[in-house]
Amino acid sequence: MPGKRAQRASKATTRGRHSKRSVASARKGFRRPSRKASAGPKSALNLPQSTLYGSQYESLNDIVLSRIINGGKTGATPDAFLFGNMLSSLTSGMRRFSFRQGMQLGRSLYRLHESGKGYEMPEEALADLVDFFGSIGYKQVTYTTYPDKTSISVHNLHADDVGARTHSFEAGLISGFVSAARQTPVYFKEGLCSNNGSEFCSFVESDHEDDDHPGIAGSGDAIERYAGSISETIITGAQKTPTMSSEYCSLLSMVLSEKEYAGNMAKIAAYIGSNVGSKLFSYYGKNSTGRLYESAARAIRMLNLGNATVKSAKPFDMVIRFDGLDSRKEFVDLSLAFVGGLLSKRRGSTFATTERNVNGSYIVEITEQGLPLKANASTTATRQRA
Ligand SMILES: [Zn+2]
Repeated sequence: MPGKRAQRASKATTRGRHSKRSVASARKGFRRPSRKASAGPKSALNLPQSTLYGSQYESLNDIVLSRIINGGKTGATPDAFLFGNMLSSLTSGMRRFSFRQGMQLGRSLYRLHESGKGYEMPEEALADLVDFFGSIGYKQVTYTTYPDKTSISVHNLHADDVGARTHSFEAGLISGFVSAARQTPVYFKEGLCSNNGSEFCSFVESDHEDDDHPGIAGSGDAIERYAGSISETIITGAQKTPTMSSEYCSLLSMVLSEKEYAGNMAKIAAYIGSNVGSKLFSYYGKNSTGRLYESAARAIRMLNLGNATVKSAKPFDMVIRFDGLDSRKEFVDLSLAFVGGLLSKRRGSTFATTERNVNGSYIVEITEQGLPLKANASTTATRQRA
């Protein structure tokens, strides 16, 4: 039986500028911690270095969500979203974890909307959820409600067929939002995915949490296909315009830096980096070092793994800047793992990193000499601790 169907156009473009309250400016006082994350009390604004839990996570969610709702920055590419989505769907444990983090975010999102207006019917809230997906950059988001269930479709126009469902974080977000609206646990499961050959992603109500998916690691060559697609985009100069929410991209990357998974995430990031690196190195060869390193910097920027610029190709000197949420230690480590993988294809060279904190941004400079840059998270090269 067909139900009520509603479609709302995204309001993202008509929204005002984002609020002046800046997470980045609250970043002052960033302190490079020792390898053992400090457990000292820190307010949400000071962004604790270690993984965020409970109420700390919730207040940070609120700040970031408010910025997105009020029309935040669209500085992220679809490729950067896919990077986060793929890594967060790697194993069944990771999928479960990202689903639950998404759920927490969805509850916060509902609370923020609800406190502003108060809904008479739980279904009214779905329009705001649809608008939220518009604000983060997804197009053609629709919902369908039947008497006994709801489904949501998101057209991800920048799909990349990696042969796996990748949106467990979003399934959690929808579940958390609808659970809060109905005041009872509701689970949504991603049935079709734009990264698995479908034209759109479809989230359908399910009577239990989606926990029977093995994760991407069990889906053949998804990671290789993805790395191949990044390299091709970079080599052909076909990068897409950043149209996706920078803030949402950071939320996604926070899932990746969960302590329990950080080590594995870094290994996979390094693996993707080395895959991309070998394609770029074999394409540009030894004779166009300048273009090679420019393309490496483009790859880093495209994946939102820091704002990378090449200062010099001979000798190699690259600066990567991390702002706001992305200046968290866990994220910097993840990015450096990718960069380490990328540069590991430069045979016979060693790289050193120096790191500094400038006006709340975290700056990493990588130069071709000195200590080897390891292709994993425990990059222990010359770290300068502020
Ligand atoms: Zn999907």
